Amino acid sequence: MLSLHNVTKTYQNGHETLHALNQVSLSFKPGDVAFLLGASGSGKSTLLNILSGLDTPTEGKISIDGIDTKNFSKKQWAIYRNHYIGFIFQEYNLIEHLTALENVALPLIFQGVSQKEAQERARIELEKIGLAKHIDKKPLSLSGGQQQRVAIARAFVTNPKVIMADEPTGALDIELGKKVIEYLIENAKDKVVIVVTHDEDLSNAYANRVVNIADGHIVEDSNQTPLNVIKEGRMDLVEPKMRLSLLFKFAKNNIASRMFRNILTSAIVSIGFIAILLLTFMIGGISGSITDTLAMIIPPDEYHIHHLEDTNITHAHYDRIRDYDGIETLRYNISASLDSEARQNRHTFIYEPMPLDQIAFERDGDFYGELPENDDEVVISLRTALQIRDMQSVDEDSYEYLFNLVDGLTIDIMHDQNRIETVTIVGMAADNMFASPMVYMLYDALLDVVETTDPSGEHTASLVATLNIRSESEIQTLTQTLYDEEDLIMRNVFGEMTGQIESVMNNALRWFIGVALITLIVSGILIGLVLYTSVLERIREIGILTALGARSKNIRMIFLLESGLSGLMSALIAIAASIGIASFLNRLFNSFIQTPLNLITGGNINFTLLSPGIIPILIVLVAGVVYAMFAGAIPSQYASKLNAVHALRKE
Ligand code: ADP
Ligand code: MG
Repeated sequence: MLSLHNVTKTYQNGHETLHALNQVSLSFKPGDVAFLLGASGSGKSTLLNILSGLDTPTEGKISIDGIDTKNFSKKQWAIYRNHYIGFIFQEYNLIEHLTALENVALPLIFQGVSQKEAQERARIELEKIGLAKHIDKKPLSLSGGQQQRVAIARAFVTNPKVIMADEPTGALDIELGKKVIEYLIENAKDKVVIVVTHDEDLSNAYANRVVNIADGHIVEDSNQTPLNVIKEGRMDLVEPKMRLSLLFKFAKNNIASRMFRNILTSAIVSIGFIAILLLTFMIGGISGSITDTLAMIIPPDEYHIHHLEDTNITHAHYDRIRDYDGIETLRYNISASLDSEARQNRHTFIYEPMPLDQIAFERDGDFYGELPENDDEVVISLRTALQIRDMQSVDEDSYEYLFNLVDGLTIDIMHDQNRIETVTIVGMAADNMFASPMVYMLYDALLDVVETTDPSGEHTASLVATLNIRSESEIQTLTQTLYDEEDLIMRNVFGEMTGQIESVMNNALRWFIGVALITLIVSGILIGLVLYTSVLERIREIGILTALGARSKNIRMIFLLESGLSGLMSALIAIAASIGIASFLNRLFNSFIQTPLNLITGGNINFTLLSPGIIPILIVLVAGVVYAMFAGAIPSQYASKLNAVHALRKE
């Protein structure tokens, strides 16, 4: 059922070729309790390793249940080890960060058995071997004998056909050693039991077959089993599935067992991310603040229409353009000076020239008072009201109060020191305190003013439109039509300005991210090195997992997850740190700049230095994990390719 045919295993030692096994032919059948006896270095472990597929012979054949294994893939060997063989090692080889129960359940979980069932079966196995009280202990808090019993329970839990024990009693005293062997024999009646030892007393007492090896040769076999005929075929075994959650547990435990080192590494790696995040926050904050401030002065949805030579916009233009498709509202802007007499207070206010406007009144913002009904009635803007009252700013709560201060006042519209019109304030449009001061009046009344100020009808004026089209191409078409038909240029001043700010900021961002990427490349190397160290420290664990049936892709996944976790840690550290730094800097900035700014503007301009954005945070979170996994790819690959035999020999 388990046979070697003329198997030779050689090692190259400089120029010498060392025969660890030399033309060995052996066959084992159920019921065999075979003791392999031989001096140290005679080839016993090599024989077991080849029988279990952990090592490959230089020459010869191995057959399992009569099937030639020469075409076995690594995967098939893993399946075979997992289902077919129970391994017991001299050094117990338990996984230190798992409890006794978890250690025993491990091979079952490799088979795809559910966590619950695996743990139940592991518990039964541990109870049977007398460890009921210790199932939740980690290996290092158990005695040597108890650890060996855990290892035996782990070997038996899958009910394998073959039990291989490599010097299982070597580290135990004689009494314990005997108990271990008795347990093996008692519980493996229908199995092949192969025990490697150099204790002849033990083999005399318990073996039903003794195989003596010396220098890689079988020198004696007390009870040979005839060799099987080798035939081609496949073993019909279920492919082991290592659950991601289990792999994750290994990765997590690995990280946890070296917490200090991992936090330190993550902190170093996070520096690059912190730099990127802070810069993105800063650009978001500053350009957001600039854009917001700009939006107060220049309404974002307004399009300015002016003539090529900046001269002859007439009300004839106004009348035609009002009917263009896509134009929602159209405002005719002309400039005049205002002379206001706040008669109630017997104060007279003289103003510098400022624009006088007629607009559609459906503007955003609150409206106080009434719309003009007669030619001598006007609505003023918040800014104009403030200027009339000689005020800098006002709280939103006090708009009503401000309107009451100007309601009913008369103002003179002046041109070249001459009064052209006297009008009465009937309403206030509380749009934007920082927009240019405006006076709104009926169109006919405005035309009067226009004609009086500029009888030729040609004066410096501009049109301001809002559009009811949104798509870039429609706006493009309207712009082109206005240019072709009227020689007029339509521009979105806000869009142009913010576009420029954005491009400057984006350039700055690109440069900075370039620099930060270099930092990240360096820290990527750090992640790789730390993971490589972790692999070296865990070589033994990798060997154990391989012996229990883990496949190389499982091993690779453990280390990839480990580096992904460490990347997650760096990303989280970076996010927490940069949000912390951002709020600290904002507070500092506020106390230096925002407070005086509030005094001047009445709290109407909020300048944010750093504004944490959810998108950069999410990007760093994902990028941190992916990036660390990339950095960990080479060490993970290295771990997955480690030779289990060498790994287990290491101690
Ligand atoms: P045993 O288990 O009987 O003590 P081993 O099977 O471990 O012996 O080793 C058999 C021989 O093969 C020894 O001489 C050992 O030094 C040699 N050997 C085992 N593994 C290697 C290796 N990876 N490289 C070189 N020599 C090896
Ligand atoms: Mg050995």
